[in-house]
Parts: sequence; structure tokens; C-alpha cells
Amino acid sequence: MLDFDTALAHLLAAARRITDVETVPLLSANGRVLAADVIAPIDVPGFDNSAMDGYALHIADFAAPPTDFIISQRIAAGEVGTSLAAGEAARIFTGAPIPAGANAVAMQEVCSVVEGRVMVNPPHPLPSPAGGEGDEQRLRRDFICAGANIRRAGEDIAAQAVVLAKGTRLGAAEIGLAASIGMPTLSVVRPLKVALLSTGDELVEPGSALSAGQIYNSNRYAIHTLLQSLGCIVTDFGIVADDKEATIALLEKAAAEHDVVMTSGGVSVGEEDHVRVAVEYLGILNLWKIAMKPGKPFAHGRIGEADFIGLPGNPVSSFVTFLMLVRPFLLARQGVAALEPVRLPLIAAFDWKKAGDRREFLRVRLNSAGQVELFPRQGSGLLMSMVWSDGLVDLAAGDTVAVGDVVSYLPLSALL
Ligand code: AMP
Ligand code: MG
Repeated sequence: MLDFDTALAHLLAAARRITDVETVPLLSANGRVLAADVIAPIDVPGFDNSAMDGYALHIADFAAPPTDFIISQRIAAGEVGTSLAAGEAARIFTGAPIPAGANAVAMQEVCSVVEGRVMVNPPHPLPSPAGGEGDEQRLRRDFICAGANIRRAGEDIAAQAVVLAKGTRLGAAEIGLAASIGMPTLSVVRPLKVALLSTGDELVEPGSALSAGQIYNSNRYAIHTLLQSLGCIVTDFGIVADDKEATIALLEKAAAEHDVVMTSGGVSVGEEDHVRVAVEYLGILNLWKIAMKPGKPFAHGRIGEADFIGLPGNPVSSFVTFLMLVRPFLLARQGVAALEPVRLPLIAAFDWKKAGDRREFLRVRLNSAGQVELFPRQGSGLLMSMVWSDGLVDLAAGDTVAVGDVVSYLPLSALL
């Protein structure tokens, strides 16, 4: 049996990076992989601006009573004010530029306005016991220090900084950030084209009636959806016909038009399977028995320029091997830098007494105490275990777990 880490290392070593690049508008960039570093052409914020609705003023004016200020102007977001003279304040709104001559903003909740003048009041209750007039004065000054409630130019992003690195998978935050620096498009790696084939004479498509001994083809839909969530363009060939010549012709055509040809089922050793024979005829095939559970049978090879991936047939096995092996492989082909799954050390709320001889990925979920609970049936065909779970516990071969032990939890949300 092949050790899981060795299998993954083989796959990653075989993952040739796609070098074709395309430019896409921001709203088509979700899930895509950046092909080049993004450098900010501007500061963000582009100018000092108010973080609050309130009054812009100069704190030195507190030192020279009276400490109420003449409201000399009103600056809304999108407007530009004029310089403040000593003793003046500007009515200002969130996002509006700080006028020259101001160095702080007093939030409106601590201000009182009487006849065109604004008085800044210390918060109530006062932060320390109020004494005489002097204390009150000091509090007013300390409460609004220089820079208070001002968002500084360049505070989020400095012009010329690399804000998104090549190899980043783009999501809502990255796309929003690109917009904030004024980029209408992004340069991304072209998507991977994947051909998907299901094998198994027992399979029937949803929508048709089942005869004796038949089951619905669920892998096709689960794997297709997983591929989509990785940004792949999928050609779904459905169930491959049970005929050697037809299988060879189909695989040859699929390999010529796709980056990856992926099958589910029929990779168990000894099985009479046309896909295996066809891949061996057309290219190279490595059938692996990987020391992982669920999983074990897995195939990797090449047909011409296309990679061949053979997933196991059991629905949970194909799902978990996809997440743990195929996902990093497909991401590596797209040039993604971060391939390691997110791991959290968490407390187990379950016992696992049978030490296995393979690395196990247990289907688990978090309970309200933040501990990890086990799905009671860990069979590799039970898709309800994937639906119930929100994570996998990565358990080394030979390990057992007792309630209270720390286990390594991999959130499924970070694997999709
Ligand atoms: P195999 O790897 O082909 O020996 O299949 C292992 C198990 O997975 C068998 O019980 C198959 O019926 C089942 N299986 C294979 N392919 C699929 C599929 N596409 N959808 C659901 N179950 C499948
Ligand atoms: Mg089969």
C-alpha cells in the first residue's frame, strides 16, 4: 500500500502548471486564480477622512478657552471643505475629507450644538472622578486626542504595495479589494477543462426507474459539483458504455480536448474494467492502493497531454479522495500557492477504539461546545455522513481517540 503523503507528493509532482492567462471582469473572477501579482496604483483611503459623523476641529483649540467652536462649514462625503481657522469646527460626515486645519473629529454623540456653536462634552459617566474645572478641561482634551476618528490616507493600502499575490484564489474579499483600487479586470489562469466519466453497469441516472440490482449514479453529481466549486469547466460524459472499443474512442477524444480526464468507479484491483484497459492502451496508468480510509483504490496516469484520474466508486471514498488528493492536484495545476488544508486542534467528544492500519478521515461535526462529534456510521458508501458532517478528523494509522483528546479537525468549508 502507498502511504497517503507519498501519493499526494507524487500527484503534486505530476501537476503541470497551466500557463495560459486570460483577463476577466471582476464579476467573473470568483473562484479564479490570479496569474500575476496585483499592485495598488493608489493609496486607500486616498485622503484623510472622517470615520464618524461629527465635528472636525483642532485639539490645540481646547487649550485656549472658550472651548466651544464656531461651526464654519458642512462637509458631506464626496465634498471638499475649506481650511479651518482657529476656534472653528466643520460639521463633517463619515467618509468626508478632513479639512486643512483640523486634526481630530469629535463624534456627534458627545457634542452639543447651540446657536451655530459646538461644545464637545466628555463621555458620561466620566472615565475618572470629575474634580474641578481643570479636570473637566483635561478630560475634554484627552477624550479627543490628535488623530481621533480620522482614517489616514494609505492606512489600508499604500500605493505600489502588492495587495494580492499571484496564485491567490479569488473570492468576495479579493474582488472587493481589486475594485477599491480601481481595477475593472483581473488577470487569471485559464480554467482547467475536465472530462468526467462514470463507470458501473449498475448505475442509473436520477429521473429513471431503478430495476433490481441498480443504484442511482450519485458520484457524477457530487464530483461534477466539486469540480465546479474549484472553477473547472466540466464536460460530463455520463456513464461510459460497457464496450472496449467504444471506451478507447471516448477516452482518446476526451483526452485530446481536456486537461484532465476523471472517472469514478472501476479502479479496484482485479476488476474487469474497460476504462483501465483503455487507459493502459492509450497511455500510462498507475493503479494505487493508498493507505487511507475512506479511499484506497485510486488511479493516476496520462493519456497524451491529459492527466488521468481514477476515483474510487464508493461515494464517500470518491468524495474524500477528491478533497484530500485531487483538490490539491487541480489547484496546483492552476498555480495556487496555498494547498494545505486548514487544520484546527480540537477536543474530541467521541471515542475511537479500533486502531486501523490506514490513515483515516473520520466524518465529524462541531457541537455547541466547540468539540468534535463523530457520525456513528463511517462506512465508505454512506453519503449521509458527508451531509451530516462539517469536517474531517485526520487520524494517523494506528491511532485511537478517547473523549477529551485533541484531534486534528479539517473544516469541509475550507476544502470546497
Ligand atoms: P467500484 O469502485 O466500481 O468497485 O464501486 C464500488 C462501489 O461504489 C459499488 O458499490 C458501486 O456500486 C458504487 N459506485 C460506483 N460508482 C458509483 C456512482 N457513480 N454512484 C454511486 N455509487 C457508485
Ligand atoms: Mg464498478
